[in-house]
Amino acid sequence: MSTLRTPAELAEAGLAAPEELAGIEAVAERYAIAVSPAMAGLIDRADPNDPIARQFVPDPAELATGPEEREDPIGDLSHSPVEGIVHRYPDRVLLKAVHVCPVYCRFCFRREMVGPQGLGTLSSGALDRAFAYIGGHPEIWEVILTGGDPLVLSPRRLSELMQRLAAIDHVKVVRFHTRVPAVVPERIDEALIAGMKESGKTTYVALHANHPRELTPAARAACARLVDAGIVMLSQSVLLKGVNDDPDVLASLMRAFVETRIRPYYLHHPDLAPGTSHFRLSLEEGRRLVAALRGRISGLCQPTYVLDIPGGYGKAVITPDSVRERDGCQTVSDFRGREHIYPPEN
Ligand SMILES: *Cc1c(COP(=O)(O)O)cnc(C)c1O
Ligand code: SF4
Repeated sequence: MSTLRTPAELAEAGLAAPEELAGIEAVAERYAIAVSPAMAGLIDRADPNDPIARQFVPDPAELATGPEEREDPIGDLSHSPVEGIVHRYPDRVLLKAVHVCPVYCRFCFRREMVGPQGLGTLSSGALDRAFAYIGGHPEIWEVILTGGDPLVLSPRRLSELMQRLAAIDHVKVVRFHTRVPAVVPERIDEALIAGMKESGKTTYVALHANHPRELTPAARAACARLVDAGIVMLSQSVLLKGVNDDPDVLASLMRAFVETRIRPYYLHHPDLAPGTSHFRLSLEEGRRLVAALRGRISGLCQPTYVLDIPGGYGKAVITPDSVRERDGCQTVSDFRGREHIYPPEN
């Protein structure tokens, strides 16, 4: 079985009924589709609300864009000094070497940039400029490989990138943001792990997973290979209506991470990406769900609930007192203490 990439392939795999095809085809003209074999195999065809299908199978609701939604929801572009680099915080940068993913999430915050119609892979000239930027900024302590998904790169390409980071002394930590260990667990083999470690730096992997069923035995084994190789794992999840907006599901997800030696890190409030309103809940609902985890499950299982403030102001940790009411609006504070109205008025 291979990755499903077209409406016809989804139909053939039993993931789209004939009467749904026209709607899915309309979505396919705008956004990339990919459902990996591992994820296609997890979907319960009999369940119209399957939480795995909801994440990966296109929905015509994606074509409805609200006024608050934006193409660059977290303001990456305004903090990009050279192509492929996002430098928002002083000590760390994102390096987006590739804009391809093993699956395309229907709620993706970078949906306008990823996929076959997206920004593609950085040219060798652009990569040279990105590494020159990192090398020229001694305050950069950590490089976060994201994209796209950096673990779609071949072991050889990955080890080339890591060797270039190895040559930059002031970079001490390399972090990968990826879905691969869960969605294509067989990719995590010796050669890929060796490539990931070629930098010689302390290496972290933040695994993006949103539902406990994604942590299949094969996914857990892939994570065990990473952790046994000395890589530290963290979790990253998006709070999504119809996927994990339930205290029991969130509790099982966080427990599944901890059982897999993955320390829960971020639970993201969904971003204002175009055509994703059917996934979004309010900050108030999010805070209630996160509060329900306290006391219910181990302290090891508690994620940090964060909102990426629209406009590129960075992440705000959402706690009971970080959201304020002012003149009938809610405001959140960024890391500099500035307040922002949320949801923004446009
Ligand atoms: C989210 C993000 C990071 C990582 O933030 P941490 O809080 O260190 O996990 C770094 N740079 C940018 C631009 C980001 O959006
Ligand atoms: S893997 Fe990440 S970048 Fe790729 S589609 Fe999903 S959320 Fe977007």
